[in-house]
Amino acid sequence: MYKKVTIKPQREASLQRFHPWIFSGSIHSVEKGTKNGDAVILINVKGEKLAVGHYFEGSIAVRILSFDGDQSIENILNDKLKKAYSYRQQLGLVDNPNTNLYRLIHAEGDGLPGLIIDIYGHTAVIQCHTVGMYQHLSSIEEVLVGLYGSAIHIFDKSSDLISEAKEKNYIRGSYQRENWVENGYQFDIDWEKGQKTGFFIDQRNNRKALQAYCRGKKVMNLFSYSGGFSIYAQSAGAAKVVSVDASANANEICKRNFQLNFNTEHEAITADALDYMKDMSREFDVIILDPPAFAKHLSAKHKAIQAYKRINLQAMRHIQKGGILFTFSCSQVIDALTFRDTVVAAGIESGRTIRIVQQLSQPEDHPINLFHPESNYLKGLVLCVE
Ligand code: SAH
Repeated sequence: MYKKVTIKPQREASLQRFHPWIFSGSIHSVEKGTKNGDAVILINVKGEKLAVGHYFEGSIAVRILSFDGDQSIENILNDKLKKAYSYRQQLGLVDNPNTNLYRLIHAEGDGLPGLIIDIYGHTAVIQCHTVGMYQHLSSIEEVLVGLYGSAIHIFDKSSDLISEAKEKNYIRGSYQRENWVENGYQFDIDWEKGQKTGFFIDQRNNRKALQAYCRGKKVMNLFSYSGGFSIYAQSAGAAKVVSVDASANANEICKRNFQLNFNTEHEAITADALDYMKDMSREFDVIILDPPAFAKHLSAKHKAIQAYKRINLQAMRHIQKGGILFTFSCSQVIDALTFRDTVVAAGIESGRTIRIVQQLSQPEDHPINLFHPESNYLKGLVLCVE
């Protein structure tokens, strides 16, 4: 039997709009003995069951998993994981020899706040972002085995803050190198040492979009990680491609990826992107700016906006006349309009004439929950800079 959390009267509106977060200010009372991560039933003061979710003593007090108050967590997980899988099947991502890495669960986007599952060939990499979700790892494993078969490898890459094991570990299997491909391009992926779950799957469509601008051009990929954009640019016939990332480890993977795809050396520079741009020659026709989330919390929003402005300004100052700038923000707390305003501010300061030629977002395996605008985290603009 789940513990009960009672919502204040007049605070049920967000539930009626199916927003999956209940903030602490909306809570009337929490049943005695309720612990962080417990599955709870959300009720109103009349005692009516409204939803099932995970409790946490923080700003977001309950993350809702189902708006049906009579469901067990096991049923919810089973149901939503299967739906997510059949949706990816429909997209043609399951058993696709051309792209065998995709996101199976995109947290709120798939109705499962706190859970990310990325699939890399025969391995599923799981990141639980809540204590509650972490407690269901074995149920999640069971459903994954049902979907992919018992040979699936499962790696738990949950945050140290919530993982009891305190160590990243394999729930099933071990590290297995395979031929990982995205749109036919090969990528070496290391979820143990790499960032996030090992690869930035969310840029798949945007990398493809980049190719239209690269033939015969000089391309500078800043915040390049393992070289996703660089590989696509090179393949599209760029005259020159350079990658810059602050992580030497990322640059090693990037160079390996050039060997894998083209059997060539690649110029991957280890440097701070902003410092690097300040002295950069104005030779590049195409610049990609894909920084990490500068703001992870609302409190960091203002600083993040300044940081986005600074890097965009430098890129605008240093790009060739008529150049194309791909600029992104993956911070959830910076919405599309704020990001665009920030780019506008940089544009004004640069003094150059700039048009937006394309607006980009996240791919279809990172769906946006219509009732949770925050799940639309990846924003991109393609700018033509005169
Ligand atoms: N574009 C990449 C993903 C970028 S993730 C892709 O398509 O895969 C952000 C990257 O920025 C990370 O690789 C991180 O190492 C790098 N980074 C973080 N701070 C940096 C800085 N100040 N200068 C340069 N790179 C930085």
